[in-house]
Amino acid sequence: MSEYVCHYLTDAVHSARAVYHADELPQAMAMHNAALPEYRSKVLKWVGPTGITFLMHDSTMTLNKGPENYGTIWVCQDCMLHDANGECGGCHEGHDEEPLSAIGDGFHVAMGLAWDEHAEDCHNRAEREWRGECDCETNTFSTSQCEGCGSYLHGERHAMTLFRN
Ligand SMILES: [Zn+2]
Ligand SMILES: [Zn+2]
Ligand SMILES: [Zn+2]
Repeated sequence: MSEYVCHYLTDAVHSARAVYHADELPQAMAMHNAALPEYRSKVLKWVGPTGITFLMHDSTMTLNKGPENYGTIWVCQDCMLHDANGECGGCHEGHDEEPLSAIGDGFHVAMGLAWDEHAEDCHNRAEREWRGECDCETNTFSTSQCEGCGSYLHGERHAMTLFRN
C-alpha cells in the first residue's frame, strides 16, 4: 500500500489535496473519481511514492488564457536548459532525473508565463508585449520539486507554460 496525493482544482485559482492509500496509481484515481466525482476532470497532478507520477492541467479550469493553455509549471535549471538548448551542464555527470520527463504524453511546454500570470505591476503584463527583463518568470531559490522532471534538488526554478498538443 502506498500513499498517493491528488492535487485538484476547486476553482480558477485554488487547489486542494486529497490523500488515497492504494497499491498503484490507477486504483488511487478510481478512488478519487468515486469519492469526488465533481472534481474528476480537475486533477492537476498526482504525487505518489516516487514523486510526481502524473501531470494534467485541464482546460475546463477556465484560467482565462485561451483554449490551449493548460497552466504554469515551475522547472529546474536542467529542464529549462534542455528546452532552450537541448543540453545542460549536468548532461555528462548524469541527471538527477531525466529533464522534462514528467511532462505527460499529449502535452508540450514553452518557456515563460502567459501575460496574465505576470505580476500585477509588471511592465510586460501591462503592454502584453515583451518590454524587457522582469522577475516574474524566475524563482531564484526553491525547495519545491521540479514539475518538469520531478527532481527535489534545491535551486532556481523557471516558469514554463504547459500546452496540449
Ligand atoms: Zn542535461
Ligand atoms: Zn513580468
Ligand atoms: Zn527538472
